[in-house]
Amino acid sequence: MSRTLFSPDEQRALLREREDDHFHDECGVFGIHGHPEAAHLTYHGLYALQHRGQESCGIVSSNGHEQTVHRGMGLVSDVFHEKTLAALGGRHAVGHVRYSTSGDSSLRNAQPFYATTDGGPVAIAHNGNLVNAIPIRRELEARGAIFSTTSDSEVIVHLLARSREPNPEERLIDALSRVKGAFSLAMLTDDALIAARDPYGFRPLVLGRLDGAWVVASETCALDLIEARYERDLEPGEVVVIRRGRLRTLRPFAPAPREAFCIFEYIYFSRPDSNLRRHNVYSFRKELGRALAREHPVGADLVVPVLDSGSAAAMGYAEEAGIPYEMALIRNHYVQRTFIQPAQSSRNFGVRVKHNPVHDLLEGKRAVLVDDSIVRGTTLTKIVHMLRSAGAREVHVRISSPPNVGPCHYGIDTPTREELIAHEHTVEEICQQIGADSVGYLSLEGLRRTATSLKGGFCDACFSDEYPVEIETPDVVPQLSLFRQADEDDPA
Ligand code: AMP
Repeated sequence: MSRTLFSPDEQRALLREREDDHFHDECGVFGIHGHPEAAHLTYHGLYALQHRGQESCGIVSSNGHEQTVHRGMGLVSDVFHEKTLAALGGRHAVGHVRYSTSGDSSLRNAQPFYATTDGGPVAIAHNGNLVNAIPIRRELEARGAIFSTTSDSEVIVHLLARSREPNPEERLIDALSRVKGAFSLAMLTDDALIAARDPYGFRPLVLGRLDGAWVVASETCALDLIEARYERDLEPGEVVVIRRGRLRTLRPFAPAPREAFCIFEYIYFSRPDSNLRRHNVYSFRKELGRALAREHPVGADLVVPVLDSGSAAAMGYAEEAGIPYEMALIRNHYVQRTFIQPAQSSRNFGVRVKHNPVHDLLEGKRAVLVDDSIVRGTTLTKIVHMLRSAGAREVHVRISSPPNVGPCHYGIDTPTREELIAHEHTVEEICQQIGADSVGYLSLEGLRRTATSLKGGFCDACFSDEYPVEIETPDVVPQLSLFRQADEDDPA
């Protein structure tokens, strides 16, 4: 492999790129302790969590003494087969699905991360983004640490390995006390499963039971698939340690000023059959649709969902408005999510290949098109045009969340602020740009009012620009610390 040093300007540009990488992971985690089919069940759990990340996945299992790992690029069904699962022996396992946009989509960033520390083997599956990962990484690198990934999650492994605490849970707590931002994670040692949520509780993590085994998962849909019983959500700031069949709860962190559960998990990201903090996602989306219909009524002949993201809200809108719900836009399910395409050209293609209008339903009709959110505006521009080409007389766009004006720093993949159409444009301009007859977004007040039924505090920074935790970046750009990589280099 040949390496060339970058000029200071190139270094700065690359550092910015690397910093971006730290804030663009969407992930799902799963862990099980004390089951003879641990790896198989983790595989099924990850299958249910596939919507949380489609780029890479992995499982680490433990037989009580040593760990076995298998990770790969692609979907769970591509990466794991009967043979690979059979090799993942033992009664304990953790698994991870990951998706990142910009830059680094290589195998080295696939999780779970694993390491052999002087306290034994550890494997970590992390969901959420840390806002001070870069300064910590700089500090550790200055003291000689060598990082092998561009993921923020790796700082946890380094901090843990350096901790002088006597046991793995205290080492993990020691490491987590240094990081800020979002973490819902599962860590496997040789004999214990440890799960933790940050004090703000940004990302979900639930606890379940199956045949006497303990299970942790990002969402309840993973418990449902393996027929595990839902016990409860982990509380913000809670750490649970599961060893020899017993669960111990710790509350080691200073409490956050408020709970900040990600509202976008309810709006878009989680699966509609999941319950987040005991509230069903589908039902909440429908409530948003009802609120949207009250805020932005319009005379129309049919309500059309943008499948699948807008379907529950469209149902709510249709019921509240008394307008028939029609699937006048059919989705091809064999195409991956639009966002997964790396280049703008393929993103456009993705929209066309993904949705097809039903001419007979739309001909001469006034349609209300409902989706959960607009990010760059690419999808709706194509779809509005499609409906018109299919004969729709009017197309009124209704969005079941407020204008998306800020990027997420806590684990939802959103583009930079400048790329967000609602950051740059007014609703009227957006309407013009996407070619609709009208556009109506649910107001922030409307969203917050609807969310009072869910109880607990939320993070709605992507809509309100009120960030519970600010990002920390280093003041000084280090010189000569970045190298051009000529060959694809996957140490894993
Ligand atoms: P865009 O075409 O960029 O406006 O994207 C809008 C579509 O992306 C909507 O159908 C949303 O449901 C979906 N969407 C919103 N947020 C995300 C996300 N973080 N990852 C993937 N898709 C998303």
